[in-house]
Amino acid sequence: MKKRYWRLTSVTLVITGVALVLFFVWPQQKNGAELIFLNVGQGDAILIKTPYEQTILIDGGPDALVLKGLGRYLPWSDRDLSAILLTHPHDDHLFGLIRVAERYFSEQVFTGFRTATSAPYQAWLERVATTTPLKTGQRLIFGPDCYLEVLSDGCLAGNDNDGSLVTKFVYDNFSVLLPGDLGLKGENILLAASSSILNADILKIGHHGSAESSSETWLRAVSPDLTVISVGIDNRYGHPSLRTLNRLDRLGLSYKRTDREGDIRVWSDGQSFVVK
Ligand SMILES: [Zn+2]
Repeated sequence: MKKRYWRLTSVTLVITGVALVLFFVWPQQKNGAELIFLNVGQGDAILIKTPYEQTILIDGGPDALVLKGLGRYLPWSDRDLSAILLTHPHDDHLFGLIRVAERYFSEQVFTGFRTATSAPYQAWLERVATTTPLKTGQRLIFGPDCYLEVLSDGCLAGNDNDGSLVTKFVYDNFSVLLPGDLGLKGENILLAASSSILNADILKIGHHGSAESSSETWLRAVSPDLTVISVGIDNRYGHPSLRTLNRLDRLGLSYKRTDREGDIRVWSDGQSFVVK
């Protein structure tokens, strides 16, 4: 299956014409990798601190709460982020990034295929230096054994959720799958392309635990040791869905929820991981 994946990836790379995004010079010191699923209410905001001292923010949650979250984990004087990614242009992922752009600077701001003409999206564009659309198969390289791979840029999907930028963070033998708000259709597109690349130690549950996400086939393909649900207390969508939670229980998959536990911090030495 691995060979098939690489063949598929090669084809993708030829199509996109970009083999690799190599944009960081990394220091030698390694401190392990840390991922923090920030408690931003009903939305997503994930801070990654790489072993090579880069800081990556994926989505910004629905409001300014993300700034408090970043303040808890970044030095007060640090106003730079190595990279910012927006998975898709919905309020609960985008709005916080507008506030982030007012406080933090990043030369590397990425989106997937999906953009928007909405006023908030335009407000965000006005505040960031430039945005670069990532393509399926591209990798952001952080170090010799650490990268973020784009598993889907969303160009094949029918709506914004299924069009989420899906990435996999890898540090040596440790990996985390971050599917944004991917729904069942988006999951099926990825499963059909190559289910072997989906396997990961940790899975952020898609679309805040919606019933229209996290199929059994998807969960089996990822086969995570831990899942994380980023969700707001008493949200009006009823997330996470009882059906999704039952599915997780049935498959014996443990989960942590930001609405109950606050920020969820995971640290890895590249082999195993611990929840702090
Ligand atoms: Zn969302």
